[in-house]
Amino acid sequence: MTRTRLSICLRKRRYPTLEDAAQAAVSRADLALRPYRCDRCGQFHLTSRTKGKRIARPGGVNVLQHPLALTWK
Ligand SMILES: [Zn+2]
Repeated sequence: MTRTRLSICLRKRRYPTLEDAAQAAVSRADLALRPYRCDRCGQFHLTSRTKGKRIARPGGVNVLQHPLALTWK
């Protein structure tokens, strides 16, 4: 369970959908960025955290047809 601090939420850019977040990561050409759903605002942020292979992914969302999604597995 990912718990996002409010202070982090406030200073991060928000994306309404996982797809938007993915496109933002692609536009930055930074595959280290991974989208995650924020439980504060209910939207998506990008994190550059790469430690650990288990990244909390939003459940029930099936928009992972984006090519970048392949890097999230
Ligand atoms: Zn947030």
